[in-house]
Amino acid sequence: MKNSLPLNEAQSCVLQHAMPSGTEQIDLLQSLERVLAQEVRSNRDHPPCDISAMDGYAVRAADLNIVPAQLLIVADIKAGDLPMLTVQARQCARIMTGAPVPQGTDTVIRVEDTQAVAADKVQINVSAQTGKDIRRRGENLRTDEVVLTAGTEINPGTLGILAMVKAAEVTVQRRPRVAILSSGDELEGLHDAFDANKIPDANSYALMAQVQALGIQPTLLGIARDTPDDLREKLQQGLQYDVLLVSGGTSVGVHDFVRPTLEQLGVQMHFWRVHMRPGHPVAFGTTAASKVFCLPGNPVSSMVCFEQLVAPALRNMMGYARLFRRTLPVRLAQAVAHRPGHVEFVRVVLSRDADGYLATPTGSQSSGVLLSMARADALLIVPNESKGLAAGDQAMVQILNGTEFEQDNGSIV
Ligand code: AMP
Ligand code: MG
Repeated sequence: MKNSLPLNEAQSCVLQHAMPSGTEQIDLLQSLERVLAQEVRSNRDHPPCDISAMDGYAVRAADLNIVPAQLLIVADIKAGDLPMLTVQARQCARIMTGAPVPQGTDTVIRVEDTQAVAADKVQINVSAQTGKDIRRRGENLRTDEVVLTAGTEINPGTLGILAMVKAAEVTVQRRPRVAILSSGDELEGLHDAFDANKIPDANSYALMAQVQALGIQPTLLGIARDTPDDLREKLQQGLQYDVLLVSGGTSVGVHDFVRPTLEQLGVQMHFWRVHMRPGHPVAFGTTAASKVFCLPGNPVSSMVCFEQLVAPALRNMMGYARLFRRTLPVRLAQAVAHRPGHVEFVRVVLSRDADGYLATPTGSQSSGVLLSMARADALLIVPNESKGLAAGDQAMVQILNGTEFEQDNGSIV
């Protein structure tokens, strides 16, 4: 394999090595957003019998050929009752939503279409459409029917269905164990004494949050210094995990020992350059048990590389079919310069007007300026072959977390 790849080839390479990592059985209460690894069948008919969809009267449609018609009320049926009687001609049963429809009746008339006449008599004002407002037995679920397939993402509705079929425990795809290591002699840890000459370690935490946003609690291995010995020790520790994320030390500086040290530890490197900005010096390697992503030290580059390469890999390992961020067409509020040869990700905020979404860059796009990422709603994709985009041009953005919710409700009033 070439060591320098276009982004799409780097993504396929990573995904080929990021296979689902086994299954586990968990409590239904903990299963939100996990991916089902089993087929789920219904263990009952639901509803168990024909039930009323409305509060009203269960009637025989044939009695309502001429309306208004007065019927004798012979029963009062609530949800949970098991009516034994058979309703005869010119009779009806008062019935509540969810209650079983009694023998002899074929239609429910809503209470709004009736008028009380006496304690045991009701006047029906409308003619009946046979079967109306009855929910049929098994309309929701049928015994033995496959209701959920392996690979389904468990959302709140799915979780409700699992409860319906009494799946108190479910088999889901396992989540990979992820470790994060920062590297650099200049780095100051979160709890280290303040030193104005140092660079605070932001990457460990920004990466941690990106991993957490995918539902995984990573382990922070701290900071490795730029020496082969310290790196060897910390990298060895990291290779015990399913996935190791290392930030910094991936360039070609004389103190960038990450790649040679990984190779000494038996990691097979698949690529170490990707035609993207920010994030050009990003590397990926594997051992039999572990995957290593070497992310650039610049905080924005590290986060953008995570989005493009690590997040899809982790999602693939967790069994999701949807691996990539949702994209959306937008118009550009201002020009963006670009030279062909790499894909560029511009941090933007989105606003909406009558013509759709408008994307405005979040200020300095230097890969060292983490605020540009902190403020962003989305990453605007400038394609490889682009010679630059003008204000008003169409482009695609990848939506980052948080913007699936919007401040106004769009077209719904
Ligand atoms: P490197 O990739 O090691 O050459 O680092 C590139 C730039 O990113 C340098 O300015 C580093 O100080 C900075 N950097 C590296 N690691 C981190 C980190 N964990 N947190 C914040 N900045 C970092
Ligand atoms: Mg460094």
